[in-house]
Amino acid sequence: MKHSMLIAGILVAAAVTAQARDPKPVDVMIYVKGDNKPPGSVDFGARATVTWMYARIGVRLVWRDGELGSSAASGSPVMIQLRFTEELRGDLSPEALAYALPFGYGRTAITVTYDRISFVAGRSSRAQAILAHVLAHEIGHILQRTNGHAETGVMKAHWKGQDYDAMSVKPLEFTSVDVDLIKEGLNGLKARAASLSEKASR
Ligand SMILES: [Zn+2]
Repeated sequence: MKHSMLIAGILVAAAVTAQARDPKPVDVMIYVKGDNKPPGSVDFGARATVTWMYARIGVRLVWRDGELGSSAASGSPVMIQLRFTEELRGDLSPEALAYALPFGYGRTAITVTYDRISFVAGRSSRAQAILAHVLAHEIGHILQRTNGHAETGVMKAHWKGQDYDAMSVKPLEFTSVDVDLIKEGLNGLKARAASLSEKASR
């Protein structure tokens, strides 16, 4: 009994130390909800990949399940609502897998149809990689605050067969222009989030 108590104590201490060693504040919080969610393992794997893709360019993402909270978190991260839905808006191309509303500050900023992603993946095991890239791409639009696209990589408008091949081996990259636009957009969005939370607390 004493022994297991000691282990629990060590685990708690380790968790506290890990937090203390990680001073970088959260940049973006993504709230996930919806009725067309991917299977748990695909969802989990895709989130981990997206987190890594953004960490690589110095942006820290965290994920939450459910509705975007109204209470402002410390450090004023940018909050994004992600919704998995059965069908996308009728006016979108039948090839579209998702869409983002980069100029709106509505509660549903990114909408994804997992059925379409799983259709594109076919019988291959690529659904997780495709989902990760779709999410990273749409988050990119929100942070860049534009509908603009790059010639290559994550922000390319239409991925082709070779892009799908490549992303299933290792994640695609953001171009250096995309990285600059993301950082610039993120700073603007954070400043806005900070002023909103200041107003709310008055
Ligand atoms: Zn796009």
